[in-house]
Amino acid sequence: MEEAKNSPAQAREARKRVLSLIQPTSVPTLGNYLGAFRNWSAMARDYDCIYGVADLHALTIRPEPPQLRRQSMEMFAMLLALGLRQDNSVVFVQSHLPGHCQLHWLLNCCTQFGEASRMTQFKEKASAHADNVNLGLFSYPTLMAADILIYQAHYVPIGDDQKQHLELARNIAERFNGLYGQTFTLPEPFIGKLGSRIKSLQEPTKKMSKSDPNPRASVSLLDSPEQIVKKFKSAVTDSEACVRYAPGKDGINNLMTIYACCTGKAFEEIEREFAGRGYGDFKAAVAEAVVEELRPFQEEFRRLLAEPGYLKQAAAEGAERAARLAARTVDKAMKKMGLWQI
Ligand code: ATP
Ligand code: MG
Repeated sequence: MEEAKNSPAQAREARKRVLSLIQPTSVPTLGNYLGAFRNWSAMARDYDCIYGVADLHALTIRPEPPQLRRQSMEMFAMLLALGLRQDNSVVFVQSHLPGHCQLHWLLNCCTQFGEASRMTQFKEKASAHADNVNLGLFSYPTLMAADILIYQAHYVPIGDDQKQHLELARNIAERFNGLYGQTFTLPEPFIGKLGSRIKSLQEPTKKMSKSDPNPRASVSLLDSPEQIVKKFKSAVTDSEACVRYAPGKDGINNLMTIYACCTGKAFEEIEREFAGRGYGDFKAAVAEAVVEELRPFQEEFRRLLAEPGYLKQAAAEGAERAARLAARTVDKAMKKMGLWQI
């Protein structure tokens, strides 16, 4: 997928639709920011974008109700703080309109038990929450397919971990179109080259995850500069004491990726900059780059949080615009499947 510019073909490209959601399971991490959010804001300049808070998805791990309510509102404020304003994109909360649940059921009836069982994230989350392996967790990918297909999205900016789910959404769409006639646009993933899989600071072979219970494993987008410095200081590295990108150096490779994302520097340039210097210096530089990258976002978030009335009004507006788009697809899918329409 190429960046949109000004020719007629590119203008058509610019009108293509982009969709992505994030779960309000916890405060987002630097992984979410570098793997998803940064692409969301970049794409909002060139495409028709729809971004949302996936609160229905969050129910699969049974969060405390007051906490879910607060985190959904905060996540919505974060999306606005990224600069995803209502005039250039639709920003909404998934449960504020009925369409996602409606389409979810229709798509469940077009998804095989076997293919849903193959989702690696289901297996991982089922073992992490062995006391609550609910049906919602199992059909999470069909709800995600509904989220995407309901808006006829062309592109879905995601981190590398969601690739398998997007592939399933495409399979479901193709199957539905084959059975009932052309209904859904086939979505393509948009995965950035750099930052698509930021690793945990404590176990750098695992991805950084906002639901990781170890607070030292991830940088939260609301961490103070002091907390960020401390977390990078305690990041797991290796004993070579040489800043270079190489196989087996997962911790350093991860820190170099984060530094490259925040400064725009290439890996060779970073290796030259830190030649002959220890990991202490490098970690301090990475922390400083992250603090600077997050500063404007954090300031805007705090400003928005002080205006709950504005946030409610913006969410209501977003839901109304999203509902209008979603209803068209739900009606079409119901009709094609043979539900009696009155
Ligand atoms: P959870 O642990 O609750 O699943 P998560 O950190 O995986 O949280 P999601 O809400 O599932 O976050 O995903 C939001 C977006 O962030 C998705 O596009 C996902 O691909 C992306 N993402 C998640 N983790 C990373 C990561 N470590 N590196 C890059 N992108 C990521
Ligand atoms: Mg996830």
